[in-house]
Amino acid sequence: MIPYARQDINDADIQAVVEVLQSDWLTQGPTVERFEQAVAAYCGSAHSVATNNGTSALHLACQAIGLGPGDLLWSTPNTFVASLNCARHCSADVDFVDIDPRTYNMSVDALERKLASAAERGRMPKAIMPVHFAGQPCEMEEIGRLAGQYGAIVIEDASHAVGAQYRGRPIGECKYSDVAVFSFHPVKIVTTGEGGMLVTQRADLADRARLLRSHGVTRDPSKMRRQSEGPWYYEQLELGYNYRMTDIQAALGYSQLSRIDAFVARRHALAARYAEGLEGLPLRLPWQHPGAASSWHLYVIRLNVPSLSMDRAQVVRALREAGINVNVHYIPVHTQPYYEALGFRRGDFPEAEAYYAEAISLPMYAGLREDDQDRVIQVLNRILS
Ligand SMILES: *Cc1c(COP(=O)(O)O)cnc(C)c1O
Repeated sequence: MIPYARQDINDADIQAVVEVLQSDWLTQGPTVERFEQAVAAYCGSAHSVATNNGTSALHLACQAIGLGPGDLLWSTPNTFVASLNCARHCSADVDFVDIDPRTYNMSVDALERKLASAAERGRMPKAIMPVHFAGQPCEMEEIGRLAGQYGAIVIEDASHAVGAQYRGRPIGECKYSDVAVFSFHPVKIVTTGEGGMLVTQRADLADRARLLRSHGVTRDPSKMRRQSEGPWYYEQLELGYNYRMTDIQAALGYSQLSRIDAFVARRHALAARYAEGLEGLPLRLPWQHPGAASSWHLYVIRLNVPSLSMDRAQVVRALREAGINVNVHYIPVHTQPYYEALGFRRGDFPEAEAYYAEAISLPMYAGLREDDQDRVIQVLNRILS
């Protein structure tokens, strides 16, 4: 079976993990700090906070901005449920902005209209969470401008987009946002097994995320309410979590990060090969915004279903029968039973729903061999023509 995504682990990665296993630190220690600094340096953010997964980094980002009961967060329906769940974990309400049918990212026009009508009704979002779908950056300058105009905080769900660029600058620099979050799940660009990271230029958000990452406990005397009672002394200032990354994970991430540009370049080359091999078939290739450079986490084709004798599910089944384990990203979040129970309905976000009915994520990972990719192209040509 050719998977749709796969990690790329080499001997140096394995050696880096072995070295940590033989060292004094297994849980969060010097290697986590080294990995945090390396990611911050790579993407040009002032601060970085590593976590046990991307979902907890999203949760910490929401906590750090003070999202709570009665607040509202807007994101896109075309994302993984984690983007919205993190706001629900803060007891905040959520809503969605429909997607741009070219990029499948949050539509700036829909956002602008929704903000204007929210202002009329007096129910503004405290936070807007664009998701860089498939690794293609959202139109951050416009989103940042609208957020500034209406006083909303911007949290980028950059789970797909470490290694991507927007207007020539790395995602994670947060020029048009308050904070961004990466995921290091094995299907993403670089992996730590499970892992995530929050990056920001705002020291206040990073400090709060760091405190909440470890139970709300501090060992820093300058932050304590009382006099230290001795070298063992710590204080719990808030109700936090155990969202720490281990040094084992960070060693893998640090080693992987040294190959990130090669990973992304390889994904670009594979995307170009797909574009060539699939030309002329009844499908839409992924359109790329001229102002951005994707990390190509996913390669999504959109079938021209009306011109086919099959629907999307049949095409997926035929690909899987041919040994190609394609996937679909994403079932619109507002149609999930949990979100329907909150009042959302099929039909609420028609662009995301129409996209979902036609989308297939083809195999895309740095280690995808060209002969395997050629097989994917051949099988698609056979099925669709
Ligand atoms: C992977 C992913 C997450 C969650 O990341 P984990 O590291 O698996 O917790 C969040 N949002 C999106 C869009 C993702 O793809």
